[in-house]
Amino acid sequence: MTTTIGVAPPWDAARWPHFSLREIACPCCGETFVWPAALDALEALRADLAAPLQVNSGHRCALHNARVGGAPLSLHKRLAFDIALAGHDLAWLLAAARASGFTGFGFGQTFLHLDTRARPAHWFYGQRSKQRWTSVL
Ligand SMILES: [Zn+2]
Repeated sequence: MTTTIGVAPPWDAARWPHFSLREIACPCCGETFVWPAALDALEALRADLAAPLQVNSGHRCALHNARVGGAPLSLHKRLAFDIALAGHDLAWLLAAARASGFTGFGFGQTFLHLDTRARPAHWFYGQRSKQRWTSVL
């Protein structure tokens, strides 16, 4: 089962048809955080790509975020998505993510972190990630 923290709105299956609450819940405890703007961007990205998106990480409770080495102020403690890169063209994925309303981009070797932070930002998870993305950026 899942529990919802804060005053987040309920899950809307009609609004986010390609995803499920379980899919974005914290894997250690099932805690969830429904952030409509982030989910709207994710759904728009899914529609634009017309291809499945594997969400490696969605919401994390504070304990899980610490355990996996997440930044203390990581937006995963609210709602962010680490999307698996396998099967995607990186340039296409990034262009679609930008067009879909995401403003935070974390470039990894095997995943792309996406969130809807107020101030746009981007970063790399190490030098090898930077090398993988250099030709795309
Ligand atoms: Zn948890």
